[in-house]
Amino acid sequence: MAEYHIIVCSSTNQMLRAQKILREQSIGIELIPVPAEFGTVCNTAIKLASNDLEKVQGIINKAEIHLNGIYPLKPRKYESIMNALKTKRLPKFTNILQKIQNQLDLTVDELTYLLASDDIEQELFKVADRMRAEIVGDEVEIRGAIEFSNFCRKNCDYCGLRRDNNQTVRYRMQTREIVDLAIQMRQAGIKTIILQSGEDQWYTTEKIISLIKSIRSETGLRITLSLGERTQKEYEAFRSAGATNYLLKIETTDEKMFSDLHGGELMGARAQHLKWLKELGYLVGSGNIIGLPGQSVSHIAQDLMFFKEMGIHMVGIGPFIPAQGTPLENLSPGPYNLSLRTIAVARLYLRNVFLPSTTALATLNDAAQAKGLEVGANKLMIIATPERYRADYCIYDNKKAVNMSDAISIVKTLNRRLPNTIAEEI
Ligand code: SAH
Ligand code: SF4
Repeated sequence: MAEYHIIVCSSTNQMLRAQKILREQSIGIELIPVPAEFGTVCNTAIKLASNDLEKVQGIINKAEIHLNGIYPLKPRKYESIMNALKTKRLPKFTNILQKIQNQLDLTVDELTYLLASDDIEQELFKVADRMRAEIVGDEVEIRGAIEFSNFCRKNCDYCGLRRDNNQTVRYRMQTREIVDLAIQMRQAGIKTIILQSGEDQWYTTEKIISLIKSIRSETGLRITLSLGERTQKEYEAFRSAGATNYLLKIETTDEKMFSDLHGGELMGARAQHLKWLKELGYLVGSGNIIGLPGQSVSHIAQDLMFFKEMGIHMVGIGPFIPAQGTPLENLSPGPYNLSLRTIAVARLYLRNVFLPSTTALATLNDAAQAKGLEVGANKLMIIATPERYRADYCIYDNKKAVNMSDAISIVKTLNRRLPNTIAEEI
């Protein structure tokens, strides 16, 4: 079996510099969340093959990258977890746990079994929670989202912001307004903000670049972009301007469902955007929607396989919620339990990834977002969009606006840890 090391840097900037330099030198690397036992200010580590270690050390020293250290990445056995859960009553489940323990890959049938079986649900949740604790620890990452425009040139069937939805009252925020919000986020202890919008070409390449630069220079915050599809050149320009993360959900990997929901567009074309983003050195988020029309559990299993194959760093899994004024407005919301199970299976199968407990999950019921954190998730997103725009950012109906005090109280109730930049009382 291949052996790996991880590089843990002293800051995110150092980590991003290191990954850029190593990629330029054609060293095969992956970015993974820093394993729990190495908790640092930078939560992303660089994974490399141990064979490349000597060469990498030379490059890192020459570039004067500040490190916390380079450590062997020991294959985890999860022995105590697995043994506690082995049960004669559930031989198939036990068998799959054994495969996970032995670092073996799972088949689509095995993933489908984990996702679909009611009788293993409680055990599945338990093992996912323990793996979360062991792999990424107790800290809950908190990100702040600024939904700065709800104009969209696309027409996704599920989304309330789709071009043809004339019930949506449209708004755009100006650069200064967005930067001021970012300053507030920084003061509240947030380290990464998500700039999200419909696909709005009013924000030209230059406008987005200047927005990124202003936020970087005035706050130093890390920036996740979630602008939908842009050109490869634009992704490159945004990366050079200082954006480090990009969130682009694949929604479903089933080609037919994808093109039915997106006016004939191809899933492969969307996947190509994710490849570009990875090549450009972004930390890439993706994800899917649970409960889309025609979706089966094995479709979801295949989505998870896609995330693994693509090396996606953050996976947002959320239920479908109907949105008024869309072709799917009369559909029922996606199933709650299947959404939770998908998070749990993602933790077991993808292991070292960031998994948010999503806003869509929070919208399904009041307890859902806390529950997501108990079945494998390690991240929450708070909505920082000004009150006066919130109702109009109606991706789906009754979207819950989770704020900082909600997030703090969820984390505290679960006895988990807040990032040390966030004060417990606000
Ligand atoms: N325009 C950008 C970002 C805004 S949409 C983009 O499409 O990437 C952000 C996410 O909202 C989408 O990726 C989709 O997963 C989610 N979304 C949209 N409509 C939804 C619905 N009705 N139910 C659940 N999630 C939805
Ligand atoms: Fe536009 Fe994104 Fe909604 Fe699709 S999901 S209609 S791209 S905002």
